[in-house]
Amino acid sequence: MSKKTFADWLELAGKVRIPNLALINGEWVPARSGKQFACLSPIDGRVLAQVADCQAEDVERAVAAARASFESGVWSNTKPVHRKKTLIKFAQLLERDRDELALLESLDMGKPIGDALAVDVSASIRCMSWTGEAIDKVYGEVAATGPDELGLITREPLGVIGAIVPWNFPMLMATWKIAPALATGNSIVLKPSEKSPLTALKLGELALEAGIPPGVLNVLPGYGKTAGEPLALHMDVDGLVFTGSTLVGKYLLECAGRSNMKRVYLECGGKSPNIVFADAPDLDKAAEAAAMGIFYNQGEVCTAASRLLVERSIHDEFVALVAKASQIMSPKHPLDPSTSMGAMVDEGQTRRVLSYIERAQQDGAALVHGGARAEPVANGCYIEPTIFKHVAPTHTIAREEIFGPVLAVIPFDDEAQALRIANDTEYGLAAGLWTRDITRAHRVARKLRAGSVWVNYWDGGDMTAPFGGYKQSGNGRDKSLHAFEKYTEVKATWINLADG
Ligand code: NAD
Repeated sequence: MSKKTFADWLELAGKVRIPNLALINGEWVPARSGKQFACLSPIDGRVLAQVADCQAEDVERAVAAARASFESGVWSNTKPVHRKKTLIKFAQLLERDRDELALLESLDMGKPIGDALAVDVSASIRCMSWTGEAIDKVYGEVAATGPDELGLITREPLGVIGAIVPWNFPMLMATWKIAPALATGNSIVLKPSEKSPLTALKLGELALEAGIPPGVLNVLPGYGKTAGEPLALHMDVDGLVFTGSTLVGKYLLECAGRSNMKRVYLECGGKSPNIVFADAPDLDKAAEAAAMGIFYNQGEVCTAASRLLVERSIHDEFVALVAKASQIMSPKHPLDPSTSMGAMVDEGQTRRVLSYIERAQQDGAALVHGGARAEPVANGCYIEPTIFKHVAPTHTIAREEIFGPVLAVIPFDDEAQALRIANDTEYGLAAGLWTRDITRAHRVARKLRAGSVWVNYWDGGDMTAPFGGYKQSGNGRDKSLHAFEKYTEVKATWINLADG
């Protein structure tokens, strides 16, 4: 772990090189139009760089480069062991540059430097190395046939993958896509969010250094409408993988239907319920987890524990414990290693979250903690951790994904009611429950309509298990060997053994 002090990080922030060009076919290039957009830091509003603002013509170039590299076989046709060694080298380079990667992430989207190091960079390294290690351990199948024929079931790379990722975990979400896509032999055009393009560009640099051939990983910074959409509509993109909002995810399904029926895999939004029964094993621990579950990463987490369902008999006591646990989460300068809550990604998102806080008050919820903008750094984007109680399941803050540090506490009377409220959402990404009763734990976990369920903690999981959503939280899975399914087609080859 880094021993750098606040002063060290501030000094490094003044010196770090900010990548700003697109990566197409192994070359660093401006957008063909010459357009650029300002990449701002939400820490203090300063302009970090003018970044290439890629458009349809740049998408054309990148997809052509990806296609040419795929067809040449320079990566797609290599032995698994070669791809494995290259991805492991890639992981080692991420490790070498971990401070720089964490700093770029923190400057670009405002997350605490300690979290960027401990979570974003560490998990990206783990994803790249785990996936690399897995490549030469995946086998095909032989069908259960009679003696006169042989049926081989193999997986082949899809071809050209468009990967569109969000700003809340920019590097990690990009890595969750590019690691399995590369492992299975695809070529990629990666479009990071316009709010956080920097670490994706740095990933492009490290991919080249690791030995991934030119054209296999292309990185196009740009806006959703002008760079993402041409990628989604492109007739020569075979698969589109996306992490982002449900609204955009649905639109991408339409784009596939309007173009070439490309495979589309979506990781979208959430409104995750965290259910605390009166027999939770340790209320203090449950309260700390409830606070971390919503306030970690400023609440900008798809699995944020944004709905806290508390059994009525412990409601008041538990809400007080959560408010107490939230006191350590006051926003501070993100580059201070002691900071546990940083800046919101930008001014637009800050205003959006503040408007939900206003709406909660209009709807009649009671403010328990926070509720205002904070200013630990001048011109930055900060919001206090905010807790509302007396929230009804019908209130806007109980239904819409806020993607900010706002907790909605909802009381319940019995297990059946808790389940009804928990599942009464268009989303199904994650859910948690706290109880000492093992039978209840299994019973409730089974009935929760969510891709991940946590019992007596929040946000468990690593590369060994799949991650993704039910319902409008998406389809397909990231992480684990299940991730390979999104990047491959299944082929059945039949060989006649009877004649000849
Ligand atoms: P967003 O949907 O606004 O943007 C995501 C990406 O899509 C960005 O790169 C954006 O430029 C691009 N985009 C926007 N409009 C587009 C269009 N018309 N065509 C093509 N691309 C377009 O989401 P966001 O605000 O960046 O991220 C927050 C959302 O991401 C939240 O809803 C959150 O829950 C979700 N998220 C989900 C997961 C998960 O694993 N399920 C993880 C992280 C974030």
